Amino acid sequence: MTPPLEDILHKTFGFGSFRPNQEAVCQAAAQGRDVLLVMPTGSGKSLCYQLPGLARKGTTLVISPLIALMEDQVAKLETLGLSVARIHSGRDRMASRQACFDYLEGKLQFLFIAPERLSVTGFPEMLAKRKPVLVAVDEAHCISQWGHDFRPDYRMLGQYLPLLRPAAVMALTATATPSVQSDIEKQLGLTKPARFIQGFRRDNIAIEVVEAAPSDRLELLRELIRDPRRRPAIIYAPNRKQTESLAQDLADLSKPAAYHAGLSTGLRSQVQDDFLAGKLDVMVATIAFGMGIDKPDVRTVVHVALPGSVERYYQEIGRAGRDGAPSRAILMQSYSDRRTHDFFFEQDYPEVAILDEIFKRLKDEPIAREELSGKLRFDVEIFEKAIDRLWTYGGAVIEYDQIRRGTTKWRNNYLFQCDQKSAQIEAMIQLAQNHQCRMSMLVRHFGDLSDSQSPCGICDFCAPLECEVQRYRAASVREQNQLKRTVKILHSAGSRSTGKLYAEVFPTQEVPRRTFEDLLGSLARAGLIQLQDASFEKDGKEIPYRVARLTKGKPDDSELTAILMKEEVVSADDKQTRKKKEFPKAGTALDAKLDDPVSQRIEDELKTWRTAKAKERGVPPYCVLSNQTLRNVAVAKPNADSDLLAIPGIGPTIARTYGPEILKIVTNRSN
Ligand code: ADP
Ligand code: MG
Repeated sequence: MTPPLEDILHKTFGFGSFRPNQEAVCQAAAQGRDVLLVMPTGSGKSLCYQLPGLARKGTTLVISPLIALMEDQVAKLETLGLSVARIHSGRDRMASRQACFDYLEGKLQFLFIAPERLSVTGFPEMLAKRKPVLVAVDEAHCISQWGHDFRPDYRMLGQYLPLLRPAAVMALTATATPSVQSDIEKQLGLTKPARFIQGFRRDNIAIEVVEAAPSDRLELLRELIRDPRRRPAIIYAPNRKQTESLAQDLADLSKPAAYHAGLSTGLRSQVQDDFLAGKLDVMVATIAFGMGIDKPDVRTVVHVALPGSVERYYQEIGRAGRDGAPSRAILMQSYSDRRTHDFFFEQDYPEVAILDEIFKRLKDEPIAREELSGKLRFDVEIFEKAIDRLWTYGGAVIEYDQIRRGTTKWRNNYLFQCDQKSAQIEAMIQLAQNHQCRMSMLVRHFGDLSDSQSPCGICDFCAPLECEVQRYRAASVREQNQLKRTVKILHSAGSRSTGKLYAEVFPTQEVPRRTFEDLLGSLARAGLIQLQDASFEKDGKEIPYRVARLTKGKPDDSELTAILMKEEVVSADDKQTRKKKEFPKAGTALDAKLDDPVSQRIEDELKTWRTAKAKERGVPPYCVLSNQTLRNVAVAKPNADSDLLAIPGIGPTIARTYGPEILKIVTNRSN
């Protein structure tokens, strides 16, 4: 007879009680149902497969993509006295063989494997000889191309799972939007799964979004960190260099250290241990930091730049306030962050034409990497990135230093992934620029259906005056008049899309659209209007828009004079850049002529130069510079190396190789 689940919880795991949500999940899995479990990091998902696995009395097969996480779970289960084995690339052959024997003899309660193990010939069949009672797929979002962390080696999991049936399958993840959730179900072939999507609301994290130019962020950060009540703190910076320099810049105020993937393993764990032990109180880190971190008393998480996806952002701010005490998550961002993302996007996802060019040269017969690179004469960085992408999407097969042709399917998958990636950045920008309760927006993003979606009461939208960094000021007389006009039109119209409303309030566009959005934001913050996202379909694409309506009839003048405007913490140089450099977004058609004749001249000249360069190197023109980059240069009209590097599409290699020639063309044509 199976002991009641509570008994296993007390006796085997030594826990006093279930955490909220855990029991229902354990019950469903113990009954042999397939389960989709989406709960935030640290909420105790592991128990949700471990306990029912034990209750079902057989082996639970756990598929986990990260060796470190796997080792961590294995160690924990071993200390509980359970019989556990693992197979991954870090283990020697003998140990793996022993694990297989033990599995076949039914000695194991848990077998952990890395996903790629399933594509080893004979391995899934071996597993099928003695079926597991439960298959747990951890970090299941990795299977979805819609996810922010897609891993091709997870993709083929679905094809092997039928071999292991009738075992129940449980997919676990901390980050999955509704579309990723259904993709996981589809890919893994879950049958009528019990779905648990819950626990995303964090009541004690006050989210604050601050509009600040990059050059002002250090000063704001210093002010924040100066206060000991804001520590321990984790500061997320976009790259390794910045983590190092920020750590230095904070050294007179706190005990900081930098953390990134470029540090030695020894140093990384040292820094991490010191932070956990309280010897350090500020961790300035890249996204590399945080996996498996469980420090209860982190008071502040700061992002000094806009993260690339809402999923990532949520994970990172979720490391604040695990102890339940009030904590704050501060996001510094401005318009220029979008440009930075576009730039990295182009570096990370080279133009498909470049991949086409490489793919064309690949044959069934392998070719040496160097020989291929020699034939194509791309820049090394571009070549390596493009090969890497081709490999990821199946267009190239790499064996040691030999490369051969893969499947033609890579192309669609690649283009799809590019779209996904920009959509994720877009969603993050929307989150930052939206005028709604921040926590409710996040909860909605994850499709947490059990959540009431009530306002959190503590974010910058709900409680502007509690903000630590963002400042507010009274509306000027002029702004008050603009607000009055807006409200009047809304009152007679009922509701309006914000685009249309803008056209009616400012028919000659005497204030820019962004300023109008700020006005709407302040009305929404004051609870006078409600802004709702909506979308319509056009040519198969979803076009988002926003609708404004009055919440409680027409506000009187006194309510409007009391309105608070967001104080822009944006220095002059950022405003200037904003006006001057409207870079076209990646993926926009570039057939239109430029309005500015000087820019047009520069673009024409650059094209001629590019054709010559391409001939000289024997490569197609886009391998020298993309059309997009040419246009960006023409718009930005750079006049020094550092300007050049700020242009989306121009990386260090291009700046080194062509910088002087490009600058010369720009100077000549600008005069
Ligand atoms: P997740 O996988 O959701 O990120 P874990 O499964 O690693 O989270 O659990 C996080 C921590 O919570 C672990 O230290 C675990 O031991 C602890 N934990 C889980 N369930 C309970 C419980 N019912 N009571 C007390 N602690 C728990
Ligand atoms: Mg986990």
